[in-house]
Amino acid sequence: MFKREDTVKVKIGQGENAVFVGGDAPVSVQSMLNKHSTDFKGNIAQAVALEKAGCEIIRVSVPDINTVPLIAKLKEAVRVPIVADIHFDYKLAIESAFAGVDKIRINPGNIGDDSKVKQVVDVCKQKNIPIRVGVNSGSVEKHILAKYGSPTPEALIESGMYHISLLEKFDFDRIILSLKSSNVQTMFETYMGAAEVCRYPLHLGVTEAGTLRMGTLRSAAGIGGLLLNGIGSTIRVSLTDDPVTEVEAGLELLTAIGLKKGGVRFVSCPTCGRTSIDLVDLAKKAEIALKNCKKDITVAIMGCVVNGPGEAKEADIGIAGGKGEGIIFKKGEIIKKLPENELLAALLEEIERL
Ligand code: SF4
Repeated sequence: MFKREDTVKVKIGQGENAVFVGGDAPVSVQSMLNKHSTDFKGNIAQAVALEKAGCEIIRVSVPDINTVPLIAKLKEAVRVPIVADIHFDYKLAIESAFAGVDKIRINPGNIGDDSKVKQVVDVCKQKNIPIRVGVNSGSVEKHILAKYGSPTPEALIESGMYHISLLEKFDFDRIILSLKSSNVQTMFETYMGAAEVCRYPLHLGVTEAGTLRMGTLRSAAGIGGLLLNGIGSTIRVSLTDDPVTEVEAGLELLTAIGLKKGGVRFVSCPTCGRTSIDLVDLAKKAEIALKNCKKDITVAIMGCVVNGPGEAKEADIGIAGGKGEGIIFKKGEIIKKLPENELLAALLEEIERL
């Protein structure tokens, strides 16, 4: 099986702004602009917002030649590598490469005969641009669908490997593969199967995952499960929402499963009959106050003094509530006892000193 670190390491972008995907590179988070392709101003502002939110790769639809000039404008506005999303038209891929794009998403099986594929490959080689083959349940070729009856994991994998073979024919190996399905189980099985046969890095995603809450849950299950199995080198959480929320969800997912260091990990108890302070409010306020804290620490907000510090002894620092009061503890040791309304400020002050 090709686990993350066994895959080919692909460079996207140039110089110090380059992002690596695959091999020993950290898992990256990406998103896609969703302003209309004629709205250059809106797309540029969105790209800037995505970069600020921590997005590491930004994709833009290039549906026609009129959108190609947007690539140069995006490159001027942000340092993050830009990916052109192209369907069918090989000329748009070539034009995007000449316009300075950092990566192209295109399925070579959809662009026509070998000579067209070769032209795209030649330009990508010349410009050092990788290609992502992006298969999803709706794009599986007719002949493969006829063989499997529906877009099964086997059908999706066969389709992906077919597109890859068209690129390999011309000695191209700067490839990334995605095999998305909106069905979480199908997506999971597909990527698990793909990791058995594909040496290129895998871009993970549940396509059409839904709105913020369900989309995040479905992505966390599918993408998170694969990442925990050592599979997947870059992720996109697809949400029917502002793309900034995709980046936040992606980064939080990586933090939650321990693949991203830095930033506060929260531990808080669910509260129970022993809780005698307003712990829900306290935990929410602490989380908001520490949203931008970059310290690599675990903070615990626990409901009771009896069980709290013990259950959360792995935490670097925390609060445990009593009756109208509470304690601040560091690594399981009590350092302060304070009235309830002074706990949060004291906790933040202690974190500042860490
Ligand atoms: S830490 Fe205490 S208050 Fe919180 S759930 Fe456990 S026993 Fe209940």
